[in-house]
Amino acid sequence: MADSATSLTISCSTDPDLAEALYDYLQLNLHVNHETYIVLETDEIFVRSSHNAIVDKNSVIDAIRSFTKSKHEYQNCQIMQFDDIITVGVPAKAGQLMENLLTCDMCNYLTPYQEQLWLHRMTHGNVMIG
Ligand SMILES: [Zn+2]
Repeated sequence: MADSATSLTISCSTDPDLAEALYDYLQLNLHVNHETYIVLETDEIFVRSSHNAIVDKNSVIDAIRSFTKSKHEYQNCQIMQFDDIITVGVPAKAGQLMENLLTCDMCNYLTPYQEQLWLHRMTHGNVMIG
């Protein structure tokens, strides 16, 4: 069978919080036989079977999908599969957008636009350029 394996790796895009939340969810919601066990290691989750029992990839992916749907903070996660590796994580764009936000150092106002930050700073009564 092409779509089965004795071991699956779920990589959580170097996000240990996501991995832990997903691991807890899988423990409760992934219905596997007693020869299959789930292991959490930092940002990776391993679903393994002993005695060559088969891990059903589709049911694992279904469980991850319902996990991301049920958790507001992980709703934008993308699930991708390459052979026996499944990756889960927010799209890189979302992370870049957060990194590019500008902060007002007087009140922590956030904006992605430099002009808007200048305008905002005028409300504090002084203009700082750059
Ligand atoms: Zn401000």
